Amino acid sequence: MLSLSELTKIFHSYNLSPKKILGQHFLIDKNIQKKIIASCQITDEDIVLEIGPGLGALTEEICKEAKFVYAVEKDSVLSALLKERLKSFKNLKIINSDILNFPLPIKDCSAKLKLIGNLPYYLSTAFLKYLIENRKYINSVYISLQKEFAQRIIAKPGKKDYGALTIFINVYANAEILFPIKKTCFYPPPKVDSCFMKFEMLTQPKVEEKERENFFEIVRFVFQKRRKTVLNSLLGKFPDKEKIKEILERLNIDSWRRPETLSMDDFLSLTKFFKIIAQK
Ligand code: SAM
Repeated sequence: MLSLSELTKIFHSYNLSPKKILGQHFLIDKNIQKKIIASCQITDEDIVLEIGPGLGALTEEICKEAKFVYAVEKDSVLSALLKERLKSFKNLKIINSDILNFPLPIKDCSAKLKLIGNLPYYLSTAFLKYLIENRKYINSVYISLQKEFAQRIIAKPGKKDYGALTIFINVYANAEILFPIKKTCFYPPPKVDSCFMKFEMLTQPKVEEKERENFFEIVRFVFQKRRKTVLNSLLGKFPDKEKIKEILERLNIDSWRRPETLSMDDFLSLTKFFKIIAQK
């Protein structure tokens, strides 16, 4: 891994500076690099897709352990520099592309991928969407995310961070925070701390495909009005107040509860009941 002085030397000699617009903050902490690599549990059977390799703070170590590594970097200058620096690795292919335009499955690669990356913060939401759309081709995901964003993903019902994002991700994956990363571990340091996270993609999402559209619609709807009671937030979508009260009662959900106290199972039951009403 490049030290801070080696990194800044490269920047000077190529007249470069970290691009804010691409969320360029480069890992300079050796302990965190080791921790990241160890936590990814890479084996010689793994095909890894690295997102945003930058100048290779993780790439080199991943290449030493994985069967093959695809590293997708949007910055054409960095990807050219990295190609030159890591040309001795025969199990590495560096691709100059936006990850969001990188189609999966990868041609001639039938194995499910392990995704790894110190993700640029601006990409977080779009990347999670990419992840879910391509989940068939992905086994597990190890990424750093802004601490506050990570906390929204793992939040429990009743907590202020719990919301539509929490439920959306947890339908498709088991997510956990592995460890925090201080902003000072990056050059230049970002404004906020990060968390390194693991996502285990589920082969069977927690909501059946035929229910999903209605389920997410109710979730979105209810959380748009999270300051209201469950009863009032649902009223905007289903105007029959007495019917809603009856359903909530049958589901043992107090009408006066706040939307953010509803668990994924509560939302699932609501989806089923409202479907029955809609069909009547
Ligand atoms: N992995 C390196 C490290 O840990 O030092 C760099 C991490 S930096 C936070 C994010 C990297 O992602 C940068 O190299 C940036 O150019 C790259 N990047 C930004 N947007 C991208 C995108 N849409 N697709 C692929 N790479 C992107």
